[in-house]
Amino acid sequence: MLTIEALKKNYGSNEILKGIDLQVEQGDVITIIGPSGSGKTTFLRSITTLEKANAGHIIFGNVDQDFDKLSHQDIRAIRQNVGFVFQNYNLFNNKTALQNVMEGLLIAQKLSHKEARERALKALEKVGLLERQDHYPAQLSGGQQQRVGIARAIALNPKVIFFDEPTSALDPELVGEVLQVMKDLAAEGVTMVVVTHQMSFARDVSNKVIFMVDGQVVEAGTPAEIFEKPKEARTKQFLAEILANN
Ligand code: ADP
Ligand code: MG
Repeated sequence: MLTIEALKKNYGSNEILKGIDLQVEQGDVITIIGPSGSGKTTFLRSITTLEKANAGHIIFGNVDQDFDKLSHQDIRAIRQNVGFVFQNYNLFNNKTALQNVMEGLLIAQKLSHKEARERALKALEKVGLLERQDHYPAQLSGGQQQRVGIARAIALNPKVIFFDEPTSALDPELVGEVLQVMKDLAAEGVTMVVVTHQMSFARDVSNKVIFMVDGQVVEAGTPAEIFEKPKEARTKQFLAEILANN
């Protein structure tokens, strides 16, 4: 459904992503794990065209093109079919939960106010926040704000949703409610690519795990392959460290 080949990204003379492949099938829940600074955020942002990749190829919907040759039309086609959930929620503080979810429906998808409102309310219901629709971000907990962030993504009905460490800004007691929403989406068959340090989510919910270090994929496989029989020393070391810290 989405194919990324040999994606490269530099910042100045610094090669951050050194040629990464990704194959996403309908219904996949793919987790990307790896140490801080390995390029996970840059990878998600490059795929979704929030950052401009320097090289590589994307096949997605009607787009079959090199990243450095994407037209405005290609970029629009990609953006209209992906959702993004940010580490820090990225909500508009001067808009209510409902207005935040409606925004993309009105602006990007150009729905009528009535249609946008209906779609947004359904999305808020899905994340358990119907009764908080008129609250501003400052009146919501971090977990609730992130659930609004997820509602905003699912309301757009994208082909695939990218999550960039969706729970890492949260107090520990709020992580569970966000992971539960993500598990529910996974169970419904929503296609997701999730950067996370939550190893239990990677192990129990995802069907593919990608371990990245220094802008390269070190190892990829099923959760059983990665967590029970990692082949690479670097993978074993990372898992030992992260499990010791949890
Ligand atoms: P991760 O999400 O795995 O922690 P990032 O993708 O945020 O990693 O960062 C990977 C590397 O790219 C880091 O060395 C970071 O300093 C660098 N980097 C990220 N964004 C920028 C930027 N806008 N300009 C320059 N360097 C950046
Ligand atoms: Mg990151």
